[in-house]
Amino acid sequence: MNQIAYLDNAATTQLDPKVLESMIPYMEEYYGNPSSIYALGRQSRLAIESSRKQVAEMLGVKATSIYFTSGGTESNNTAIAAAVNELGCTHIITSPIEHHAVLHTVEHYCQYNKLSCSLVKLNAMGEVDLPDLENQLAAYTKQGHKCLVSLMHANNEIGVLLEIEAVGVIARRHGAIFHSDCVQTIGHYPINLIDYGVHFASASGHKFHGPKGTGILYVSDGTKFGALIHGGSQERKKRAGTENVHGIIGFTKALALAMDNFLHDHSYIKSLNKRMRLGLKAISKNISFNSSENSLYTVLSVNFPAGTHTDLMLALMDRKGIYASGGSACSSGDDGGSHVITALKKDLPGATIRFSFSKMTSVEAIDFTLEFISSMLLPKDQAVIL
Ligand code: PLP
Repeated sequence: MNQIAYLDNAATTQLDPKVLESMIPYMEEYYGNPSSIYALGRQSRLAIESSRKQVAEMLGVKATSIYFTSGGTESNNTAIAAAVNELGCTHIITSPIEHHAVLHTVEHYCQYNKLSCSLVKLNAMGEVDLPDLENQLAAYTKQGHKCLVSLMHANNEIGVLLEIEAVGVIARRHGAIFHSDCVQTIGHYPINLIDYGVHFASASGHKFHGPKGTGILYVSDGTKFGALIHGGSQERKKRAGTENVHGIIGFTKALALAMDNFLHDHSYIKSLNKRMRLGLKAISKNISFNSSENSLYTVLSVNFPAGTHTDLMLALMDRKGIYASGGSACSSGDDGGSHVITALKKDLPGATIRFSFSKMTSVEAIDFTLEFISSMLLPKDQAVIL
């Protein structure tokens, strides 16, 4: 078999075989509907409630504050809808580099509910300008608005991290609701959501070797919120529909594995990231990075020299079995390029590519990719050889 280098773990990760193993009995043997009151149904219900307890313990919160969802997108939508519909938020402060699951949802509510929205200032690395956030909150609150702050914990394209606890403190000082998209950090760091001071936090199972279509929404104690999906009384009437029992089991197992092996996996993945960074620097001094050494350890966003093109590089790597993502203002995305790179207003003359790593990435995959990149760049690293 040809060698494959899967370096797109921020997009999704491979299911851990141990996670699959934990899920199978809940498809084959314990297939009862959790809402059924006979034993087979009760077994499924028990599995869900024990998963909820485990997830809550791992995140330092109460079981009653965890709601199982279909993933990050649904959790983000539910949180923003709740802030607008139930919590009376009339102004939303977010950033231009949020995932579209936040940005498009905010746009939707601003358009249909006639709310106002503003973007917090970022520095060149994409870090949130905290004094600007404080000033905006003070100004909008003074105008009589109740504010929602929606800021992601780690950016999925460049890996910049939010000073989440500081944002939690600022938001509370102004009576604002704070939602954080933690899709790239829950399952990647030991996390205590109480310390973060968030009202809402979103996570997604497929980002840490769990199944796709699974996630959670954390809702802090006493925060009112309503259903986004209406129907039956599942998830304490907050999320109708028969529960994805095997998905919930898989999400929980994946999170448990991630937390149990954090120290080992974190240091291994960090070493891969460093190897890639140093290897690229050795190929060309004209290669630069959008991710700092202190940003999310799973992501390395790379700017290639002038004359290189994102789509062309991605296509050539694809042919070789190297899978990565574009992250450039001029790459083809669903709406014509990366809104993240565009927001950073960098003058990037060449390709921008995001490499992202996991515990399942091998050292050989990194070396193979470096070798191929080196062969793609002309000696004066001006262009990509066809
Ligand atoms: N938020 C961030 C930061 C993400 O990276 C993603 C996935 O790409 C999402 C939200 C959406 O999560 P899901 O795929 O579970 O809907």
